[in-house]
Amino acid sequence: MKVFKFGGASVKDAIGVKNILKVLKNEGFENTLIVISAMGKMTNAFEKIVTAYCQKSKDLNQHINYTKNYHLTITTELFNSKKHLIDTEIETLFGHLSGFLITNKSTDYNYIYDQIVGFGELLSTKIISFYLNENNIPNNWIDVRDFIKTDANYRDAKVDWEKTITTIQRLDKNKLFITQGFLGQSSNKNTTTLGREGSDYSAAIFAYCLNAQSLTIWKDVEGVLNADPRYFENTQLLEQISYNEAIEMAFYGASVIHPKTLKPLENKNIPLYVRSFDNLKNVGTTVSKGHYLVPEVSCFILKQQQILVSISAKDFSFMVESNLSDIFKVLHTFKLKVNLIQNSALSFSVCIEDKFNNFTQFLNEISLNYTITYFENVVLYTIRHATENAIKKIEQKGETLLKQSTQGTVQLVIK
Ligand code: ADP
Ligand code: ASP
Ligand code: MG
Repeated sequence: MKVFKFGGASVKDAIGVKNILKVLKNEGFENTLIVISAMGKMTNAFEKIVTAYCQKSKDLNQHINYTKNYHLTITTELFNSKKHLIDTEIETLFGHLSGFLITNKSTDYNYIYDQIVGFGELLSTKIISFYLNENNIPNNWIDVRDFIKTDANYRDAKVDWEKTITTIQRLDKNKLFITQGFLGQSSNKNTTTLGREGSDYSAAIFAYCLNAQSLTIWKDVEGVLNADPRYFENTQLLEQISYNEAIEMAFYGASVIHPKTLKPLENKNIPLYVRSFDNLKNVGTTVSKGHYLVPEVSCFILKQQQILVSISAKDFSFMVESNLSDIFKVLHTFKLKVNLIQNSALSFSVCIEDKFNNFTQFLNEISLNYTITYFENVVLYTIRHATENAIKKIEQKGETLLKQSTQGTVQLVIK
């Protein structure tokens, strides 16, 4: 079986959905499972519904109407008849959403978040499944929550591999399936999500469990480039890279592939193709086994909205293991993601990401015992296969607050 994954950018409008038809006709669609994300920026739009709901804002209905109209605009363009079955499906899904909003008693933000944002993927896959069926690509829509089983760690759920493998292996491998990325289900039957941008990972989970021959993720870029083209000029395509190279790039923040995607593929030696949904003739990037698949150019990766925190003891004593252990405990408590650390005699610096808006609480707690200085909104650049020239290029971007170098990988925190 093959697994395909289409992200939000590929299905942001009716043209995008029509393009999926083109891709499938060009590539073949027998024995294929297709994972699809929410359309365009719909997950962000559903996040606004979550916020409005939790804050009891008067704008709640306005946000709901925005997401509904977004999908209806697309279906009007895709389906000719005035009253189409897909409209009923959309009504039903929005009915479920309203039902949840009315009956929910929980105040757990992360739980509420997962019950709401998942509608983006449910809507996109319903629409695309209907559209393909009407255009001679008969397919089976499946609810991913019946297959990907997780713990109840909402917004960052961990896969229960044993259950997931068992349920996915029950799928008939001779069919074409359409399913949702990003979502899973906890053992008490609540919707969970695998973390933002997690649909690549969903596709890898299916590829792993199905022993797929390959996974192709269709992107708005030619493949994996040596830098994010939104921030760098003259980027170059990396035609072949090893799993390790891709894992390192994704880990440091190359957002073209979700970092969790690669390990399941590597474990079963399943090749990953990253290809452009616009240029089907182009080869894109192949990620596979092989230590020789090392890029010949420097690769640049950036992570924005970082916080660089410098922590020292109030009595000017050395920062030793017991202090570091304290600090990591507090970082963990507030779910702050650590992207870089550096220790010196009197201070410990850490570059962190505050995905869950906990930084103020962290600061309050850590300041009880330590002296803190910090810079918000800094950028962490990572250069793999760094050269002097490559480092200079980054240093020109601003003031270097911290620089660290290990085995050809150089990281700079820039203000
Ligand atoms: P999708 O919605 O399909 O998941 P994403 O927006 O998450 O797509 O990923 C594609 C984007 O990743 C590209 O538009 C590009 O801006 C960004 N990107 C970041 N680093 C790289 C890189 N090294 N190579 C290619 N694209 C990159
Ligand atoms: N729709 C989800 C998000 O925007 C998952 C994904 O696109 O990968 O984060
Ligand atoms: Mg993505």
